[in-house]
Amino acid sequence: MAADKPTIAIVGGGISGVVLAIALIRRGLNVQVYEQAHAFGEIGAGVAFSPNSVRAMQACSPDIYAAFEEVVTHNQSPSKKKVWFDFQDGYDKDSKVGEEKLLFTLTNEYGANSVHRAHFLDGMVKLVPEGVTHFKKHLDTIENATGGEGKVTLKFHDGTTAEADAVLGCDGIKARTRAWMLGGDDVPGAAPVYTHKYAYRGLIPMQRAVDALGDDNAKNGKMHLGKDGHILTFPVDHGSVMNVVAFHTTSDEWPDAKHLTMPAKKEQAYEDFKDFGPTVHKIIDMLEPELDCWAIFDTAVDPVPAYNKGRVCLIGDAGHATSPHHGAGAGMCIEDAAIMADLLADPSVHEAGAKGFEAAFQAYSDCRKERTQSLVQTSRRSGDLYEWRAEGVGADIEKIHKECKAMNEQIWNGQVDEMIREAKSCLATILKA
Ligand code: FAD
Repeated sequence: MAADKPTIAIVGGGISGVVLAIALIRRGLNVQVYEQAHAFGEIGAGVAFSPNSVRAMQACSPDIYAAFEEVVTHNQSPSKKKVWFDFQDGYDKDSKVGEEKLLFTLTNEYGANSVHRAHFLDGMVKLVPEGVTHFKKHLDTIENATGGEGKVTLKFHDGTTAEADAVLGCDGIKARTRAWMLGGDDVPGAAPVYTHKYAYRGLIPMQRAVDALGDDNAKNGKMHLGKDGHILTFPVDHGSVMNVVAFHTTSDEWPDAKHLTMPAKKEQAYEDFKDFGPTVHKIIDMLEPELDCWAIFDTAVDPVPAYNKGRVCLIGDAGHATSPHHGAGAGMCIEDAAIMADLLADPSVHEAGAKGFEAAFQAYSDCRKERTQSLVQTSRRSGDLYEWRAEGVGADIEKIHKECKAMNEQIWNGQVDEMIREAKSCLATILKA
């Protein structure tokens, strides 16, 4: 890499940071990643990718898409290849296990696309060249990012600093970069807020799941709806494992916003789902006795007014952390990365020096705000629709179906190539002004 090439610092090495680093490196840019952990790491849980995110992976880089293809798992029944989820009546107490009433089905061009998070990240990490990532670097603050041509300074908790020409905040739901941008930890919007939902997660060996629930329920994406709770299951690891996420709504506050997970006992899950039917109870039977309970926080209240400030820009959950009810948060991070990578690879950005980065970040923010922040809002609404608590809808299945279909199609139909064209045209306008 030539010494005079501008350096782009990425703060955070989760899905957003790693995908963006690869996409920028593939476009010949000079990237340094600063990650607070001692190594790359993801949790052992499943994550689903919608069609728009698959298109975005291809736009980021063919080798990211190839890493995804290595680990992706679809519904196992040939007749369910295009099914995203079957939505079933989790409250159905009259049917036998595995025979819940089917309420409706949502389909799309790729159906369910799920991966084991840690395995997907492992595949992508192999694509990041040595020497790019600096571990144990917790960003505290940023200096000299607004105005002037000098380097931006990143200050880390260990007392060290680094310099860069531009900074991309990929530091997730509790982003320091977001708090920095808004002017402090206590400013509204700096911290994520509790959605009053939490989730238990589990990974069940597929044979055990098939024995308990039958082939169709274990091997294909299922959403079990009910009052104040819903459980989704889908296959991961090429069908050898069934992923479980069981959501419940509460009026209680989350006890400690510093920790978004808490240990829980299986008895609590039984209590939360006591009014559900036998299929749901069978799923809970298969969870471990000691569970992790995940608080669902998001940035729906006081969303950031812009993703950019000077030569710093927020990507992924740092800008727009969403509840997971659309299964599209990580996919949106990948869309972000595809658009940012093509903006930063545009020669006009480099010709304009510091002003070029500012313009690229302004174009990115202007073009991404509506779609990404709308996801955060509609995801909350989806969670309530699944739990028969959405205002004006309740347990009206026809209305739930109609609204879920429309909201999901809005996400799935996103065409990354068009988004990139729009962002580049916005960039050209900003640079001309
Ligand atoms: P993160 O994954 O949070 O990564 C941030 C990184 O930054 C971490 O490595 C962290 O260590 C590092 N970092 C943080 N602070 C600092 C700092 N100050 N200095 C340096 N490094 C720092 N999305 C989907 O698309 N499909 C799904 O099925 C899905 N399911 C989900 C289920 C649940 C229960 C939840 C909670 C979320 C789900 N999501 C899903 C959303 C998805 O997980 C997130 O959108 C995505 O992981 C965000 O990636 P990120 O890289 O932006 O942030």
